[in-house]
Amino acid sequence: RLITPSAASPNEEVVERALRPQLLDEYVGQEKVREQLDIFIGAARKRKEALDHVLLFGPPGLGKTTLAHIIARELGVNLRQTSGPVLERPGDLAALLTNLEANDVLFIDEIHRLSPVVEEILYPALEDYQIDIMIGEGPAARSVKLDLQPFTLVGATTRAGMLTNPLRDRFGIVARLEFYNVKDMTHIVQRSARLLNVDMEESGAIEIARRSRGTPRIANRLLRRVRDYAEVKSTGTVTAQLADAALSMLDVDQAGFDLMDRKLLEAILHKFDGGPVGVDNLAAAIGEARDTIEDVLEPYLIQQGFLQRTPRGRIATQAAYRHFGLSAPKEVGTNSLF
Ligand code: ADP
Repeated sequence: RLITPSAASPNEEVVERALRPQLLDEYVGQEKVREQLDIFIGAARKRKEALDHVLLFGPPGLGKTTLAHIIARELGVNLRQTSGPVLERPGDLAALLTNLEANDVLFIDEIHRLSPVVEEILYPALEDYQIDIMIGEGPAARSVKLDLQPFTLVGATTRAGMLTNPLRDRFGIVARLEFYNVKDMTHIVQRSARLLNVDMEESGAIEIARRSRGTPRIANRLLRRVRDYAEVKSTGTVTAQLADAALSMLDVDQAGFDLMDRKLLEAILHKFDGGPVGVDNLAAAIGEARDTIEDVLEPYLIQQGFLQRTPRGRIATQAAYRHFGLSAPKEVGTNSLF
């Protein structure tokens, strides 16, 4: 799938790393989050203390990992990176924590997927920079307290609601990343084009920006595909017409929806009479995992006003009917965005 927001291949990861902004000033958009972090990072540096623990949440591909790296760089400390599902045993986390140097950043991606036993270890580490570990087995086993260096945990999650309350309460800074507007997305596309030496007109950048679901990772991916198209089909300069032709060939439509987005909306419209339909039924109807629907597909469709999440299930809005050239039944509510 072209617009899955997670990095698809090792190759793509290499490109992503190359395109990643290194400093807060290079990070486009998300003004509120940037401003907050700028102040807190400045204060921590001044006091030579560890920054408060930071929780970043928002849909995949919006720049959580990028921000974690920026935080470490701006603080002038090392970053250690892991993810919730990788930390299987308490010992895995203990090993990471005991190796941190003063004020380092530990980045845990998908932190909502930490196992409860690992999470237990984390609480005293976050609060008092201490961990309790068990040494030995059976009757001879005993618990040992270890002191840690002060550190900053940066946790990332697609859904803050999935975090346990005690874990969420231990983050001093909580930042929610939003989908980017077209202006910010255009800047991101232009910046990436410069870094990748792609010759592009501003109108070409706007076309890619408009059709990237407000998500920098998708924009960078589409930019690379459009570049290939430009090299083969034209003189190499990316114009709006060329971007449009390339994106249409890739099945990304005018609203930036791909096949899966359209499949989801069409299932609601045609198979469930516009909804309401429960997410499990929807998952079965389109053959996608419930998580993918909730984390990847829905957030953008909801933000753009094509879908509504109600207590009774998902409902297609008038905009969704219009998108497919259908007329909406009278009772379908207009979304406030339209
Ligand atoms: P997440 O961790 O939220 O899934 P990433 O931090 O891996 O997302 O971001 C994906 C890609 O998008 C990065 O390689 C980076 O190049 C780009 N990116 C993300 N946010 C920004 C931003 N604010 N400005 C410029 N590029 C960004």
